[in-house]
Amino acid sequence: MNAESVERKKTPRIVIIGGGFGGLYAAKELMHQPVSVTLLDRTNHHLFQPLLYQVATAGLSPGDIAQPIRHILKEAKNIEIVMEEVARIDVAQKLVITERKPIPYDYLIVAAGARHSYFGHSEWEQFAPGLKSLEDAIELRRRILEAFEFAEIAEDPDERKKALTFVVVGAGPTGVEMAGAIAELAHRSLADDFHHVNPRDARIILVDAAPRVLPAFEAKLSDSARKQLEQLQVEVRTGVMVKDVGPDGVHVGDELISTRTIVWAAGNAASPLAKSLGAELDRAGRVTVNEDLTIAGHPEVFVIGDMALFTHQTGQPLPGVCPVAMQMGRHAAKNILAASEGNPMTRFRYNDKGQMATIGRNRAVADLKVVGFGGFFAWLAWLFIHLIFLIGFRNRIAVFFQWMWAYVTYSRGARLIYGVFRPGRMPEPNSK
Ligand SMILES: Cc1cc2nc3c(=O)[nH]c(=O)nc-3n(C[C@H](O)[C@H](O)[C@H](O)COP(=O)(O)OP(=O)(O)OC[C@H]3O[C@@H](n4cnc5c(N)ncnc54)[C@H](O)[C@@H]3O)c2cc1C
Repeated sequence: MNAESVERKKTPRIVIIGGGFGGLYAAKELMHQPVSVTLLDRTNHHLFQPLLYQVATAGLSPGDIAQPIRHILKEAKNIEIVMEEVARIDVAQKLVITERKPIPYDYLIVAAGARHSYFGHSEWEQFAPGLKSLEDAIELRRRILEAFEFAEIAEDPDERKKALTFVVVGAGPTGVEMAGAIAELAHRSLADDFHHVNPRDARIILVDAAPRVLPAFEAKLSDSARKQLEQLQVEVRTGVMVKDVGPDGVHVGDELISTRTIVWAAGNAASPLAKSLGAELDRAGRVTVNEDLTIAGHPEVFVIGDMALFTHQTGQPLPGVCPVAMQMGRHAAKNILAASEGNPMTRFRYNDKGQMATIGRNRAVADLKVVGFGGFFAWLAWLFIHLIFLIGFRNRIAVFFQWMWAYVTYSRGARLIYGVFRPGRMPEPNSK
């Protein structure tokens, strides 16, 4: 056997960074294949981000929407799971650099997702945390629930009013879901639990610089979403720019909206790991990828999911949603298997089945490509799809029963504030 055929016979080493939607679906495709895979994630769990807002608003517990990656892939003898943070990637040496040791690869799939972007105002984050991880959700839940506790003991009416005002910045799906869920929490679930304050007095304000809510949906569905939010008494302010965020509240145009609780759902930035690839990035830090999902000059490096800027199909970037990440994950894995067999790679094509956003009980919008609709049936469709894609049989059953119970009783089972409540203080900066 000559050196070349020995080289070809070597089991390819594949490193996947990230066990989110992209990384996990790539790993599943590589399961039981003649390749050796290392999946690195800085957390031990795969997180179902679409239901994070329910953890942040006390509807579900963290364990209901997360599953240990190790457990999901336990049957895959060719996949090693390593819980570790990646610091950077050395594409020239084909190494993934962690604090512990460099990890060599023949093929690399980068699927490290995105964080929030504060458009150059990172100092706003301490007052307006975003929602990407379980820690974020638990932190937001604390702030939201503490606001009601603070209102209950506040003696100054202005302080009480401030505590009962909630501002959500960004009217995309996450902002709409958060605003609707906080409204239901205040006006229904908590309504009768306090003696000195009426949670029904809470104001929930949703602001966005765009002219309409859910701008990625067609105008008819945006209008429907706005009406459904207003039925929940959410004040929707579109076409207004947030100028400042601080301990007093949010400056919108010339007005200060006085509040203790601000939720940031306005912008995304790809994982900073993108920078170390040396490839072209857009303003959101996403990596320009080729049609086969590799990066220029490196046919062995694939970037997928929220980190990838893929414009080959429509001329516009594909959206940062789960189906894009899942389909990219599978496709990158198939291309690696093809390349390792000496076969050509194929181009990626996104199969778009539509999008949905929920607004609250019986309220949602669904754009299923052939038909778009809002209201009860959109909400049912949303529930069904989210249960199907939630990973883990236990989680599906647990979430299903909690939703049924909440539907009947309006109660929220995860109203927990971890730590000591210090009413004298404003919400503290996120410890991360
Ligand atoms: C609140 C919220 C609601 C959403 N709702 C919907 C929805 O309803 N429908 C929908 O389709 N999409 C929704 N999305 C978007 C969807 O979740 C993302 O598009 C999808 O998760 C992207 O997958 P990904 O694999 O690129 O990244 P992720 O799923 O974010 O996974 C990234 C993984 O990489 C890991 N990681 C990051 N950096 C490092 C590092 N340096 N070292 C090691 N590991 C690292 C993370 O721990 C994480 O596990 C929502 C997102 C959010 C935040």
